[in-house]
Amino acid sequence: MVSDCIFCRIVAGEIPADVVTSGERVIAFRDLNPQAPTHVLVIPREHHETVGALAAEDPKALADVVTVAAEVAAEESGGSYRLVVNTGAAAGQTVGHVHAHVLGGRSLGWPPG
Ligand code: AMP
Repeated sequence: MVSDCIFCRIVAGEIPADVVTSGERVIAFRDLNPQAPTHVLVIPREHHETVGALAAEDPKALADVVTVAAEVAAEESGGSYRLVVNTGAAAGQTVGHVHAHVLGGRSLGWPPG
């Protein structure tokens, strides 16, 4: 656990979150500032900064992130969804604990901003 990481603190139960599902390697909770009717963040329990680091260091956890994202989308948005992993400040990553945004429940424009 990284003590100043907000998502590590959610995993540890130190900060409340609206948890959608929780498993051995990942948890999913609703984004505080939703951008779509379904906006859920899926994260590994262990701290990895980026999706590339997660793939290299714990590929099973990355597979679980994608599987849980698909399950959430199937449950909440009929299986049509966008899976976004912002990586690096210029791409909009504001929390340095890798997280996949599951967005769905409305039409989503392309290209993204
Ligand atoms: P990103 O900009 O890709 O790093 O995404 C970070 C996301 O985390 C944003 O969409 C925030 O709204 C969301 N967020 C930040 N703090 C919390 C929190 N305590 N609970 C739920 N979502 C959060």
